[in-house]
Amino acid sequence: MNISMYGKFRFSCHKGVACFTKCCRNVNIFLTPYDILRMKKKLGISSEEFLEKYTRTLIGNGASLPVVLFRMREDGDKACQFLTEEGCSIYEDRPWSCRLYPLDKDTTEEDEFKLIVGEDFCFGQKEPKEWILEDWLEDQGFITYDNMNSMFGEITGVESSWKDKVPDKSVIDMFYMTCYNIDKFRKFVFESKFLDLFEVDPTTADRMKADDQELLKFGFKWLKFGLLGERTLVLKKDAAEKKK
Ligand code: SF4
Ligand code: SF4
Repeated sequence: MNISMYGKFRFSCHKGVACFTKCCRNVNIFLTPYDILRMKKKLGISSEEFLEKYTRTLIGNGASLPVVLFRMREDGDKACQFLTEEGCSIYEDRPWSCRLYPLDKDTTEEDEFKLIVGEDFCFGQKEPKEWILEDWLEDQGFITYDNMNSMFGEITGVESSWKDKVPDKSVIDMFYMTCYNIDKFRKFVFESKFLDLFEVDPTTADRMKADDQELLKFGFKWLKFGLLGERTLVLKKDAAEKKK
């Protein structure tokens, strides 16, 4: 069922619903770059450690970009590693798809969302609480996630620009590092010759050093430059002449 921005739907998820935490078990949850940034910050660990402990990566047949998913527990009913008896232990920083559940964006219609499971699975839809979609999205902290995911989609969505490059392992590694391993990307920018090659004004550089989100936005620009061939970064004069 589709719901438009001012449409209404019934939903409430709490410990009292009989299906509580059912949707956090035995499921594939794809993670966005911004999801990882938020969760590793919440846990106070490096992006490298987060990727190692909590994720697995799918690399396609040489013609697609890598995607990252939660690594579920291997025993029992394959629950999410962040699930406790009380519910989600990282609730304020839970990933995009958990945030929107039981809805998802309808990618074919602007500002439309769809229910991806029915009330026979997600009993929260039988609860009396009624939402206007716009209010619910605000309650879920949707806007920041959506903005960051849109920037990411401007790269992954332009398949015609990158599909000839992805069989190259170094391209896949660069994409993976930039999008998912933000601490390693920070070292790449600040501890390699990167800043000798590209014009980056000092204020932007300071912001990127201090703020993962700013660094990730810059990473998207870098991928647009390197992967899509867009003029999002400017080579320094010396580097441009050497390139010629
Ligand atoms: S992150 Fe939280 S909401 Fe998402 S699957 Fe894990 S426990 Fe459930
Ligand atoms: S299935 Fe629906 S109501 Fe049940 S725990 Fe998940 S989101 Fe909440």
